[in-house]
Amino acid sequence: MDIEIQPVTQPKTRLEDESQLVFGRQFTDRMFVMEYDAGRGWHSARIQPYAPFSLDPAALVLHYAQEIFEGLKAFRHQDGAIALFRPMDNIRRFNRSAQRLCMPPVDEKFFLKALKELIRLESDWIPSAEGTSLYIRPTMIATEAVLGVKPSDKYLCYIILSPVGAYYKGGFKPVKIWISDQFIRSAPGGTGEVKCGGNYAASLLAARQAAEKGFDQVLWLDAVERKYVEEVGSMNICFLYDGKIVTSPLHGTILNGVTRRSILQLATEMGYQIEERAMSVDELLDGAESGRLAEAFGTGTAAVVSPVGQLTYQDRTVTIGDGQVGELTLKLFKALTSIQYGRHPDPHDWVVKI
Ligand SMILES: *Cc1c(COP(=O)(O)O)cnc(C)c1O
Repeated sequence: MDIEIQPVTQPKTRLEDESQLVFGRQFTDRMFVMEYDAGRGWHSARIQPYAPFSLDPAALVLHYAQEIFEGLKAFRHQDGAIALFRPMDNIRRFNRSAQRLCMPPVDEKFFLKALKELIRLESDWIPSAEGTSLYIRPTMIATEAVLGVKPSDKYLCYIILSPVGAYYKGGFKPVKIWISDQFIRSAPGGTGEVKCGGNYAASLLAARQAAEKGFDQVLWLDAVERKYVEEVGSMNICFLYDGKIVTSPLHGTILNGVTRRSILQLATEMGYQIEERAMSVDELLDGAESGRLAEAFGTGTAAVVSPVGQLTYQDRTVTIGDGQVGELTLKLFKALTSIQYGRHPDPHDWVVKI
């Protein structure tokens, strides 16, 4: 399939000061779009000016949330090169998400080509200040206009781009986390490992309650026993416990993060033992108090690595380590971002230059 390139007639005004970039509020001049019709497959691939869509009010996505998305970044290296980080991992996950929600897969090679072409055209939108990047949001929505519950016969797949600032403006700062005992995020057999908007809609109330109490994020427990740690908001979570790295296993209820996978690989190479196992909330809180739990950090594309300083469950609050950024947390953050920004060699072939 060819990609039609449409001209941009009214370029946007840009934010001059890269330090003022806010996550996901500004979008570039162009977007990639393609359409799907049952019987015809994907067609009308184009890179067109960024613009609103016109959707029928009965479009299935608006009623039954048949929607999936991805999140990855393009980085500007010091020599001017532009690099994606493990993009095929995201594209493959996009297709796994599509399958779970009865949506049509995209051709993986074609999708990478489209992504690269879009970024090449928008390359002057990639910021260059320390810690900044271009956030990439592939999305697929069900557009058939019908109120019956069924998989759609029509879809839109698109990619939008947003220049984003350094996640940690005031420096690398530990977050305060609230462990929810009332709400759950996903259950076995559900959509916990699917990157879909519906999961996020269901998580908003807990996140709002946590924010009202002064917490930055919610840590979810498992749905069956309400006892074992799953993940945080939009991040996987890792612990440095008894000198080993402990993280929740991939049993279908948590997102299989690209950052998680990369961090576990780097930590293994640093000589750490990895335990993918269930960690109960009691073990976690007791560990923080006894010192067996030395560090905790979230992993995800947006923040890369996010240090956790404090945990609260019911009326119990514990501080992790001295409440500051842990040594290993910082080391892993630096190791991964050094590869992403091309400051260190990339022995794993994670970086894909454009
Ligand atoms: C996207 C996401 C993550 C992190 O995945 P990465 O591939 O590392 O960005 C973790 N948890 C949830 C719920 C997510 O949606």
